[in-house]
Amino acid sequence: MIIDGKKEAEILRDEIKKEIISIKNKTNKVPGLSVILIGDLVPSQIYVRNKEKNSKEVGMNSNIIKYSKDVTEEEVLKKIKELNNDKNVSGILVQLPLPDQIGKEKIINSIDPSKDVDGFHPINVGNLASGYKAIVPCTPLGCLILIKKVEKNLSGKHAVIIGRSNLNGKPMAQLLLKENCTVTIVHSKTKNLKEECSKADILIAAAGSAKLVKKDWVKNGSIIIDVGINQEGDKIVGDVSFEEVKDKAKAITPVPGGVGPMTIACLLKNTLECFKARLT
Ligand code: NAD
Repeated sequence: MIIDGKKEAEILRDEIKKEIISIKNKTNKVPGLSVILIGDLVPSQIYVRNKEKNSKEVGMNSNIIKYSKDVTEEEVLKKIKELNNDKNVSGILVQLPLPDQIGKEKIINSIDPSKDVDGFHPINVGNLASGYKAIVPCTPLGCLILIKKVEKNLSGKHAVIIGRSNLNGKPMAQLLLKENCTVTIVHSKTKNLKEECSKADILIAAAGSAKLVKKDWVKNGSIIIDVGINQEGDKIVGDVSFEEVKDKAKAITPVPGGVGPMTIACLLKNTLECFKARLT
């Protein structure tokens, strides 16, 4: 089974759109997403444009605040404070990476945790790690939704995650622990990478290393989620050698068209949740 992330993202966006219409009919209010974009990196510009387009399509207000790459940290912090206090703003996102003069930690920590739609604020990270209600980073959240489309009950499954970043690997591990999986995180310093991966009922590849996962790394009948986005010539490829692995897996996400579309849909989901939490 090839997991169609584009279709699943469309289903999720439709649900979000319907819910926004229903809330708007009752309250005359819609969620607002504010995105801060600093500098002129092309991938960041593309991501932000997609976020704006998708949020408008589901009926949210979208506000992109652009700064040149030499903006001061002080100026960005001032803007975040303003957005924190703006009752029309449900979610705030600062597009990463940031220029050197801007401290990532300081910026993330300055966002009101209840508007932190990326789920990067330590309060949300801590709540997720404690198993409490939290805003969950969009990519792992999207991965979990896709995994659960294949298998509802993950209890007792052995999940192996390649990569230990704050963005992907660590929150993914927390989500799967909450689902009662046995979780192993492997990374660039892990010995016997192949052996560890071959034990996985669920394998999540988030290393950023093109076609790292080969056929003999995967267990028959496993679920394989490929988070990686790597440029190979003029093509985008994942962290999994898709062609050689696909017949061995029970279900696998392609790249492109797998996890990527779910990431933006989950950003909309998080924004809607933040908005709803402020309605009462
Ligand atoms: P990162 O560089 O912060 O972390 C990568 C992790 O993988 C590190 O923990 C590192 O130890 C591990 N790693 C790297 N090479 C390895 C190897 N050869 N063997 C074992 N472990 C290895 O990256 P990130 O921000 O977590 O992103 C990972 C990948 O996911 C990238 O390709 C990125 O573009 C992609 N990504 C995709 C989406 C999406 O929506 N699909 C979203 C975010 C990131």
